[in-house]
Parts: sequence; C-alpha cells; structure tokens
Amino acid sequence: MRLDGKIALITGGGSGMGRVASELFATEGASVVVVDVDDEAGRQTVAGIEAAGGRAIYVHADVSREDDARRMIEEAVGAFGRLDVLYNNAGVMLADDGSVDATSEEVWDRTLAINVKGVAHGCKYGIPAMIATGGGSIINVASFVAWMGAATSQTAYTASKGAVLAMTREIAVEYARKGIRCNALCPGPIDTPLLAELLADPAQRERRFVHIPMGRLGRPEELARAALFLASDESSFMTGASLIVDGGITAAYVTPVD
Ligand code: NAD
Repeated sequence: MRLDGKIALITGGGSGMGRVASELFATEGASVVVVDVDDEAGRQTVAGIEAAGGRAIYVHADVSREDDARRMIEEAVGAFGRLDVLYNNAGVMLADDGSVDATSEEVWDRTLAINVKGVAHGCKYGIPAMIATGGGSIINVASFVAWMGAATSQTAYTASKGAVLAMTREIAVEYARKGIRCNALCPGPIDTPLLAELLADPAQRERRFVHIPMGRLGRPEELARAALFLASDESSFMTGASLIVDGGITAAYVTPVD
C-alpha cells in the first residue's frame, strides 16, 4: 500500500475531490482526518471509509478561521500521534464572482479568506507538526485557471488560485531542508458539485468543453490518484512543483474537432 502507516489530513473531505481522495488514501493504508464545515457530509465520508475497513475521524473546522485550523491539526496529532500529509483541498467558487468590474468586496473577502488564507492557516500549524516527526508532504489545491485566462471569468477565484501557486513555491523552498515537501495540484474542470451550477447552463457548458482537448470533464478519482502520488514517497524528489491534471487544456492552442 502506498500510504501505509501515514496520517493524512484532507480539508473539504466531505465532497467532490476531497471525499474521493479521502477514500483512496484510506484504501492505500493512511489514517485519514476528514475536515469540513458540512458536518453531515464529512461524517458520511468517514462512515464510508470505516465501512470499507479503513481508519478515519471527522473534524469540523472552517479553514478560513485560524483557531479552527490550529485545532484541526491538534486533533489530528491527538488522535493519531503525528501528521504526514496535509492536503489543503477546501475551496469555494462563489456564484456572484465574475468580471473584475462586477465583483463585490464581499466576494473577494470570502474567496480569499477560504482559498488563500485557508491554505496558509493549514500550513502554519501543519508544518511544525510535521517537522516534529521528521517532515511530510503538503498538497495545495490551485487550478488550471492559475495558468490560463478566461473570458468567462471568476476573477476572485482565479486570483486566489494564483496566490496558492505562488505561496506553494515559497513554502517549498523555505522548508525543503526540514523534510517538508509542498506541491500544488492544478485540476482542470472536474465533475464535482463545485462546477455543477456553472455547467447546468448548456451554453456555458458548451463554451467550456470546446477548450478541453479530451472533450470531457475530469473525474474526481483522476485527481485523487494524482494527489496520492504527491502524498506518497513516490514523489520524494518533488517539491515546489505544479502538477497540472487538466485533459490537455493548458497545452492547447487549437483543440480538435470531432
Ligand atoms: P466541492 O464543492 O465538491 O467540495 C469542497 C468541500 O470543501 C465541501 O465539502 C465544502 O463543504 C468544503 N468547504 C468549503 N469551505 C470550507 C471551509 N471554509 N472550511 C472547510 N471546508 C470547507 O469542491 P471540489 O470541486 O471537490 O473542489 C476541491 C478543490 O479543487 C477546491 O479547492 C477547488 O477550488 C479546486 N478545483 C476544483 C475544480 C473543479 O472543476 N471542480 C477545478 C480546479 C480546482
């Protein structure tokens, strides 16, 4: 098993890619700390893992709040004795996030608080805990939109993911000699509840699909497998990197026609 004996904390583990990664990490031998603000969803993830014979606990924490982030790390170490993998996956894309001339200050504040400060808070308390037991692997979820511009913009979201990418590199460099690896995972459009509302509109859906060389959305398990690689010792010489898993979007200038 690829995560045998490791302790992994996954924020946003109640839904989408976080849930599927929680399940996969447990199958690969990790004890998983599922963190979410949606208690029912988080507990469902844990129940699924336990039903399959795995080990997991649920911790309620809002990653945008520093006290919550400190407590989630303390509870992880309290329950399992150490922390080896910190997967900062929780993120939001708000419905009224749009063009820069139309996005409210409230949307900016909430998006940056969860998507950027949430990652920073996890690292702030996760890194000392990992160093205490010899190091570990941090996976910060950015997005392909940190690399590409879109005329169908969600400006606050895009800016937040660019910040995650830049922060990831800095953390990677600073803590490399202390046994911490820190990489960014950049998903393309993935079939999860986060995108459901956006893609419910057929015109929006079509406009986006045409730019994906593979012509389809990614599946949460396709991202979970990439996260598993970053979490495991198989990526032991990799830090400060951006792993782009996007069906070819960032490689494309012109996409194929059927
Ligand atoms: P999702 O909406 O299915 O799940 C996100 C989870 O995070 C939910 O369970 C939610 O309750 C939780 N959450 C939200 N705010 C939180 C907070 N403040 N504290 C703790 N938990 C919180 O989303 P997803 O599509 O699985 O996305 C996961 C990550 O991947 C996000 O960072 C997202 O921005 C990123 N991403 C998604 C896509 C996509 O197409 N779905 C593409 C690129 C990047």
